[in-house]
Amino acid sequence: MIRPTLISAVALLLLMGAAPAPAVRYVVSPVMGTAGLESVAVTVTFTGEADGETRLILPDDWGGHPELWKHLEGLTVSGGTVADAGAAARIIRHKPGARLTVRYRLTSGYPGDPGPGNPYRPIIRPGWFQLIGEAAFVEPDGSVDKTAAVTFRGWPKDWTLASDLDHERMGRPLSVGHALESITVGGADLRVERRQLPGGVLRVAVRGQWEFTDAAFADQVAGIISAQRRFWGDMNEPYFVSLIPLAAEEGWRSIGGTGRGDAFALFSTTNASQADLRGLLAHEHAHSWIPGRLGVMGSPEPTDYWFSEGFTEFYATRTLLRAGLMTLEEYSAWLNEVLAAHDASPARGLPNSAIIAGFWKDPAVQKLPYRRGVLMALLWDDRIRQATGGRRDLDDVVLGMRDRNIATTRGIPVRDNLTAAMIALGVDPAADIARHVEAGEEVALPRALFGDCGVVTEETRGRFERGWEAEQRGEDWVLVKVRPGSRAHEAGLRDGMVLIARVAGTPGDERLAYGVKVREGSGERTYSYMPVGEGSYRLRTFTLTTGLDAAGRETCRRRISGEI
Ligand SMILES: [Zn+2]
Repeated sequence: MIRPTLISAVALLLLMGAAPAPAVRYVVSPVMGTAGLESVAVTVTFTGEADGETRLILPDDWGGHPELWKHLEGLTVSGGTVADAGAAARIIRHKPGARLTVRYRLTSGYPGDPGPGNPYRPIIRPGWFQLIGEAAFVEPDGSVDKTAAVTFRGWPKDWTLASDLDHERMGRPLSVGHALESITVGGADLRVERRQLPGGVLRVAVRGQWEFTDAAFADQVAGIISAQRRFWGDMNEPYFVSLIPLAAEEGWRSIGGTGRGDAFALFSTTNASQADLRGLLAHEHAHSWIPGRLGVMGSPEPTDYWFSEGFTEFYATRTLLRAGLMTLEEYSAWLNEVLAAHDASPARGLPNSAIIAGFWKDPAVQKLPYRRGVLMALLWDDRIRQATGGRRDLDDVVLGMRDRNIATTRGIPVRDNLTAAMIALGVDPAADIARHVEAGEEVALPRALFGDCGVVTEETRGRFERGWEAEQRGEDWVLVKVRPGSRAHEAGLRDGMVLIARVAGTPGDERLAYGVKVREGSGERTYSYMPVGEGSYRLRTFTLTTGLDAAGRETCRRRISGEI
């Protein structure tokens, strides 16, 4: 009687669809020395190809970080022989379909704690580590869509490890591609907060000491993600956010991050405020939908950055206001920053062809599509309200685009999708796209922006010109490129003076006197001047309606955030 029971148990297991063994299995373990973690050992097992030759892809160039293979040491293969195929690949020869095991050690890409900038190379420190999948894992060629398993084994008992790879245990199938697009952090001092989101658990892993508590940060992240999930009405899966501190000199600030599909990795100097991280997270998380779920970008990609970046910025901020994560005053300040930066920009009137040609070359050109896209979103939000008697707005457009796009298999070009969604609401955007996006003609905002909630006014302003640049020489910051003919030069500032501090004025505001304290020889002196350059421009400012009572403020919050 025993035997038949066993057989039926096995049959039942097969019928229930017991998970097949993953195609590629990664095991990640610490190599500990006397001082702590020295390197990370990775073992990869998989079946070689039927023709007896398997190509192995090593980490190479990712996110602007070249030669990532430099951080892999002592790569060996059992089950076959291995030969170099360039620095970033190996050819393994083996018996057809042989079981192969690749072993290597990851070493740190940084001499100490990483400094300013996004650290994408492996960070391996005595007491903690961070691994970005693309910089840590080798990939049997052609296996991106195959199933994978990643196991962390042998780590010290008092260390905490956290990764979006843990989502596999929460029901998300894991592929080799997911392993590559992963973020893992660990250490004796890593803290993890959990929050429930609509559709899945959020974990927030934090190292370092910040101006805010872990709990407050986790609440904020949960608020941002929940607000966006509610707006779009989808994305039901767990989410993971990591935050690590960057080492920097006093006064330096660096805040950056990178999306990981089901996670976001943040890197920042510890002087970042929660508001700084809020803007970054809201923008990057809004990219979960824009543009990918709304349509296919034009080619080359910068052609449609006005849409992908501008609408992302618009919806990141709109959902923050809608969820009460941003005040009306903060929203107004954000809009005024966009308007001030756009109106003062030398790139302001450039056509889209200039963005395509210069996006990666000129910082002013790079920022243009972000701001132009916000202005287009504001313009169209207002147009659609006018055309529909206030019953519809831009939210109906982007939600309509999402629904239309997911109903197709290959996706719709974003411009076609946007145009169709707007025409369905009675507004044809073709002329606006030709004038403002393609030709670069200025977008005129309605004076009564957001109904009775505020006005847009204009004034003529002089151009801000500081008149000099500063260059670090050893311990000192030294004035360079003091422009002859500038007010700074007229006041007496000269190349080579050692900068001590700005004691008056505001960068960007030509109406306030600038005070610069410098060292000349053994003495110190303060020079004062008006930071005005040549020419003038038209600056727009949004002003919230004043004197609103609580009910009026609530109405305006709902009106500006598109809720009504
Ligand atoms: Zn973006």
